[in-house]
Parts: sequence; C-alpha cells; structure tokens
Amino acid sequence: MKHLLKISSGRTADERIDPYRLQLWLRGFRYERSTNAWVKPVGNIGAKQNIRYAKDRGLRYELLDKNVKRNTSYKAKWVRENPPFLGMYLCTYCGRLVLAKNITVDHIVSVGQASTSLRYASSGKNVNDIENLCGACSNCNNIKDAKGGLWVLRGKIYRHRSMRILRFLFRLCVAAALLYIAIRLWHNASDINLFEQLGDLSWIS
Ligand SMILES: [Zn+2]
Repeated sequence: MKHLLKISSGRTADERIDPYRLQLWLRGFRYERSTNAWVKPVGNIGAKQNIRYAKDRGLRYELLDKNVKRNTSYKAKWVRENPPFLGMYLCTYCGRLVLAKNITVDHIVSVGQASTSLRYASSGKNVNDIENLCGACSNCNNIKDAKGGLWVLRGKIYRHRSMRILRFLFRLCVAAALLYIAIRLWHNASDINLFEQLGDLSWIS
C-alpha cells in the first residue's frame, strides 16, 4: 500500500528541518516550497522507517493519504443519516440535549490522530466513514479536539442512537430517584419537628 509521507519542522528551534535537507533529499524526499516540507510516496515499510527517522529528530510527520484527510461532505452525510428528533439531538459525549441547529459533527478518531497513524492509514478505513462520525455539542467538540483514549471509547459507544437514549433514560431515573429521596427526607424532617413541638406542648400543660 502506498502512502504520501510529509515531514516538516517540529515545534522547537532544535527541531527545525533545515539541517536535514541533504539527508531527506538522499532518502528520496522532494521539497515542497509552499509548506516548507519534504514529501515522498512510500510503501508500508518505507513509511515505518521514515516515520522513525522523523520521530528520532523531533520532526513533524503526516500522512497525506485521502483516507486520513477531512473531506467536505462528511457533515452533510452524517445529518442525512441521523435526522433530529423533535428538532433535538443528544450529544454523543456529554449526553445533553442540543438543538439541531447547534449540533456539530465530530470525527471520533480525529483527523490529526489518523494522519500520524500508519496503522490507521493502512487499515483501509476512512476518517470520514459514517462509523467514525458522531454528533456533539460545540463545547464537547472543542474540549475533545484531537484527544484519543476515553473520548474515542465514549464516541464509539454513544454514536449509536439507542445507547444515547438509554443513557438519557438512565439519567432521568437517577434524577427521579434523587428527587423522591429528597422529598422523603424533607417529610421525615418535618414529622420530627411536629413531634418535638407536641412533646414540648404536653410538657408545658
Ligand atoms: Zn456535549
């Protein structure tokens, strides 16, 4: 499988790409002036070797395959397959109700993560596949950004509408139970007060 690998400067001054120009050229990379990056088509093994080379030097690397790039139609596709209910959605991550006009469409495995993962690029999956998309409130979408781990797990579980509804009903039950307990406690407390007052009265008489 062929990939297009792009190597550019890292974040700090020590991780600039300039000292590696000759080495990259000898490795078969070609310079891309517009992005100050070096690009080369590589197979799986070549990708592994050159990613290791970039990692060891603190350089930034990115796969440019179309499978790990954001396309322009993913939002429309998600909305088409997930029509809102009564003008509302449930956020995949926090479970809150969101007005349909405020819903954002999120990549569960983020584009940033996928474009630096040779495993993802080689898997044949596409970040814009419906299985990798979910609806989120803008707050969760901002916080999640390119995070992985538990965010991805939550995304994979709650991207299913039935799971989101189950979580919503479960929370309603918990809220109702807490309200019931609170009312019972309040009643008990007022019973004791009444009893104490009666006690006081009988002692006076
Ligand atoms: Zn949310």
